[in-house]
Amino acid sequence: MGENPNSKDVFSGTGEIWQARRRIAGLVSRTPLVYSAGWSERYNASIYLKLEYLHPTNSFKLRGAANKILSLDPEERERGVATFSTGNHGLAVAYVARSLEIPAAVFLSQRVPQNKVQNLRAMGAEPVIYGDSQDEAEEYCFRKSEQEGWTVIKPFDDPQVIAGQGTIGLELLEQLPEIDTAIVPVSGGGLISGIALALKNNRPGMKIIGVSMEGSPVMYHSLRAGKPVELKETDTLADSLLGGIGLNNRYTFAIIRDYVDRLLLVSEAAIARAMADIFKEKRIAVEGAAATGLAALEEHRPVETGSNVALIISGNSVDASSFMRIVSEYL
Ligand SMILES: *Cc1c(COP(=O)(O)O)cnc(C)c1O
Repeated sequence: MGENPNSKDVFSGTGEIWQARRRIAGLVSRTPLVYSAGWSERYNASIYLKLEYLHPTNSFKLRGAANKILSLDPEERERGVATFSTGNHGLAVAYVARSLEIPAAVFLSQRVPQNKVQNLRAMGAEPVIYGDSQDEAEEYCFRKSEQEGWTVIKPFDDPQVIAGQGTIGLELLEQLPEIDTAIVPVSGGGLISGIALALKNNRPGMKIIGVSMEGSPVMYHSLRAGKPVELKETDTLADSLLGGIGLNNRYTFAIIRDYVDRLLLVSEAAIARAMADIFKEKRIAVEGAAATGLAALEEHRPVETGSNVALIISGNSVDASSFMRIVSEYL
């Protein structure tokens, strides 16, 4: 396993996560944890929702981007940052860069819809349009950044990004000291890696359960294969979970292998139903990725959890008409 260092070599305890928490405090507010009476009754455990869509960029990605960019030295900051994410991570990088008055370039392929380009521009980033696929845009991002001296802010496979996402785990321990289970959406795995490190280093008996969509669950198949694999992408309501983990994955694969108890897969119908159920229960509209935890509780019922369960409601980047179309069948 030469390419995948043991996760214990990367993070020793939770020191980096505590550091992240101090570092991002000026940019990132603590999010609420709310109890659901209806689901607690239905799933036979106390169920809480961690509202990670309540950030100014509508997803938790702000935590990791803020920690990474704030950890750069003054010269690095002055030269600027770059990224290649079309979604929530790109927005988070743009937001943090603008707050700190750092130049930010976001690399996008020609196929990225115009509204995403506009959103990034509105957030103050400079969109760089290149290539026919996001892979080409990514490759160009690294090449160009090397020439220009920009720091590439990766979406998940970076210790500072992972530590930033891990601050969710520290908040959970304060808000629900008796927490024994966290259910977390998984794509590249930065979110669940940070949360698992924070929680399991404090309470080794915790259960950490990851959830991905059935369509192209790259981390799930990588774990089964014992090494990172690639899969063809298929359309999904959980579009924020699309993308690979990188064949040269350095951190998240090993952390998940060592710290996460189970990965569950959910169907598209279960995701749509869960989006509708979250609306009915709490009157909030979330994106598909954020609904996968509830979808797993329902579709794999009964899921073996402890008695105090937190679902990570990771974001709400979904437009009104898509949301209405997706949930209308289930309301
Ligand atoms: C990025 C993202 C995820 C998955 O996070 P990873 O760190 O890539 O596993 C889940 N939900 C939303 C809304 C996201 O934007």
